[in-house]
Amino acid sequence: MTARILVVDDIAANVKLLQARLMAEYFEVLTATSGPEALEICANEDCDIILLDVMMPGMDGFEVCRRLKADPEMRHVPVVMVTALDQPADRVRGLEAGADDFLTKPVSEIALIARVKNLVRLKRAADELRMRAHTSREMGYDEMEDVDAELRSSLGRALLVDDRRSSFERIAGALSREFDVSVETNPEEALFRIADGDFDMVLLSLSLDGFDSLRLCSQLRSLERTRTLPILLITEADDEERLVRGLEIGVNDYILRPVDANELIARVRTQVRRQRYGNRLRDTMRQTMQMAVTDDLTGLHNRRYLLTHLESSFQQAQQRRSPLTFLICDIDYFKSVNDTYGHDAGDEVLKEFARRLRRSLRGPDLVCRYGGEEFVIVMPDTDLSLAFGVAERVRKRIASEPFVVQGGAQTLDVTVSVGVAAIAGRDDTVEQLIKRADTALYAAKRDGRNRVVADAA
Ligand code: GH3
Ligand code: MG
Ligand code: MG
Repeated sequence: MTARILVVDDIAANVKLLQARLMAEYFEVLTATSGPEALEICANEDCDIILLDVMMPGMDGFEVCRRLKADPEMRHVPVVMVTALDQPADRVRGLEAGADDFLTKPVSEIALIARVKNLVRLKRAADELRMRAHTSREMGYDEMEDVDAELRSSLGRALLVDDRRSSFERIAGALSREFDVSVETNPEEALFRIADGDFDMVLLSLSLDGFDSLRLCSQLRSLERTRTLPILLITEADDEERLVRGLEIGVNDYILRPVDANELIARVRTQVRRQRYGNRLRDTMRQTMQMAVTDDLTGLHNRRYLLTHLESSFQQAQQRRSPLTFLICDIDYFKSVNDTYGHDAGDEVLKEFARRLRRSLRGPDLVCRYGGEEFVIVMPDTDLSLAFGVAERVRKRIASEPFVVQGGAQTLDVTVSVGVAAIAGRDDTVEQLIKRADTALYAAKRDGRNRVVADAA
């Protein structure tokens, strides 16, 4: 994981220290020694994360953070506030300024790398969503803002796995303002609840009584359903070795006891957002894939889908030496429907036509809109004479019952011509099959329309 990180601190020695540690992990590092310089760099360079010292002369870290978060071009870059350990109130001010995370001085190596990696992941998910939002913005839709708005109205859901009452009451209490938190004291039970539930993340105490929490972490990472679910470990300061192992197993973040409420809120917020962005991304990808193969008007598969599907059905039929037929249905004189009743009425006819087609077919048959007023049907395990019968049934179903359009104001007689062809021999190809069905359709049109013609080959 590589990323470009901007380190901002007025003291050169602090900058050097962070720079050296980050570069040892192969991050690219930019540096600034004042607020204005930091803003200047952010405006001109792509940064993935900003580590921002709070105490700087002139413009302090809070002000820099506020300005970054107020700028639509820069607000998506995560900001980590570097605060003094003895100034817990700085975290509240940091949150108010829009900070995404905190580090305390002196900055521990584990904390630095864990936080940075974690925020790089958040930024990657957010960037991906923004890219998509960019392409769909013409439709007036910004997915990332949508996710964040959704999180304001329906709270992010977390499961807290902790067996000490005084601890879980405090933690759940601190989070309850902004999150819907459930508590589970039994780690074995927790695994089932997490796998079954729709939690956005898990908070897990590393000091459970008589149970190694890291085992739960590794179980969660190995289950398909929970593989990407964020885990935040709640650890004791003297348990560094197990924390490092947790981070290696794939724990996303951690917080040290005694837990600071504001730091906790910031960390949980980051995990929940990343999880939601990731989910949204997967949903939109699925949708995009679905849209790419579906015809908007009729909801049938489109030509692109047909061609891929037909290729594989064709090969399968050839391998099994089983029959397969291909039908092209073309509505007769459809242009005159548009010309006489308008394009919208034409669309209504197409929709109703698609509905009737769908109803005439069995499960394994595929019906697609091939283009305009042409539809095709692929029928596996069906020979020419059987397919001819199906085509006749379709033809009658269209011709026998008038089409109702314009909210019942008009009824029209619609007819269809159909060309039918079947796979012919070992050397046949998809292209030849389509061509023969097309030739048969042409014959049906020429012979007077409202008829089915089967390929003679
Ligand atoms: P034929 O009997 O020879 O098939 O005549 P036809 O009028 O049906 O065929 P032609 O190919 O001349 O016209 C097809 C018409 O279909 C022209 C086009 O405007 C119309 N069309 C194509 N797609 C759509 C659509 O999505 N909606 C509407 N309303 N009309 C469409
Ligand atoms: Mg036509
Ligand atoms: Mg046509």
